Amino acid sequence: MERLYNFSAGPAVLPEEVLKQASDEMLNWHGSGMSVMEMSHRGKEFIDIASRAEADLRELMNVPGNYKVLFLQGGATAQFAALPMNVLRGKNNADYISTGSWSKKAISEAKKYCKVNVAASSDDANFTYIPPVEKWKLNKDAAYVHYTANETIGGVEFHWVPDTGDVPLACDMSSNILSRPVDISKFGVIYAGAQKNIGQAGVTVVIVREDLIGNVMTCTPSFLDYKLQAEADSMYNTPPTYAVYIAGLVFQWLKKQGGLKAIEERNIRKAQMLYDLIDSSELYKSPVTKSDRSRMNIPFTLKKEGMDDLFLKQAKERGLVTLKGHRSVGGMRASIYNAMPEEGIRRLCEFMKDFQAKNG
Ligand SMILES: *Cc1c(COP(=O)(O)O)cnc(C)c1O
Repeated sequence: MERLYNFSAGPAVLPEEVLKQASDEMLNWHGSGMSVMEMSHRGKEFIDIASRAEADLRELMNVPGNYKVLFLQGGATAQFAALPMNVLRGKNNADYISTGSWSKKAISEAKKYCKVNVAASSDDANFTYIPPVEKWKLNKDAAYVHYTANETIGGVEFHWVPDTGDVPLACDMSSNILSRPVDISKFGVIYAGAQKNIGQAGVTVVIVREDLIGNVMTCTPSFLDYKLQAEADSMYNTPPTYAVYIAGLVFQWLKKQGGLKAIEERNIRKAQMLYDLIDSSELYKSPVTKSDRSRMNIPFTLKKEGMDDLFLKQAKERGLVTLKGHRSVGGMRASIYNAMPEEGIRRLCEFMKDFQAKNG
């Protein structure tokens, strides 16, 4: 069977070149006589793999020297707890912006550790927009301000970085990290699970400003302590070695694509193709406010009822899969991360036009 165009929200499509290279290197990595999976994380080979991955990520994202880059486990979900544990630093309250399912999860986890002030929310319109910064009720005394850069389920994305003054900015970037350049110096902490835009599930990237670490809550599990992990080069305990290796291959692939500016231009073209079709169509509809639409996850519904299953079935016959929307939203969702080729979007648009012509 041929490879399909996989629009899954995560775990998601990976660059074919990366999968081929991993396959070539599977049994015998660079003449080492073993697979990366079989290597000691303390051995020279793996330490080289991990430090190259970190160096490439730093180069791609232009990470300043006063930030630590960690490769941890537990997904973004573990970071929902690790963030307050590490960054409250003796304070007892934090500000959160609520823009959808993932920010709500971050908020409910943080509530176990501190008082959460929901400084702004778009729940009045079913999380279909980003609340404008003028409406945010920030607390000058908050330990940090947290937001979700891209809501993977709702398909709303921040196309700007909030200015929170002296209060550190914390960001869940799980589903749009590496999709565009960002100015890291505006952030205190960035975290992202790998299975959307970095690599395979199992590793989580944390980028944290040095002055924010080292003052954890006493209950913090050691493996979630940013300082301990930073001092141990993210090897306080056994790291997810193969996931780090795959992430490293994706970073090299991104560099070959021309870096984040080039990938951003491609991502804009890809998203635009799909939104143009949806907006000019009689059959398809996007629920999200235009200015806040995600470039990575594009939910849409059919204006005619009862046709979702037919749409999904016929899409699958054309090799276009995992287009079903999240159970909480319904309809469809096309996730088009960095690794989704433009050809995949062209095929999807072609199918959507044909489907509309027959059924619209
Ligand atoms: C997928 C996702 C998460 C959860 O990631 P896990 O790896 O399952 O913990 C959190 N936030 C966002 C924005 C996501 O897309």
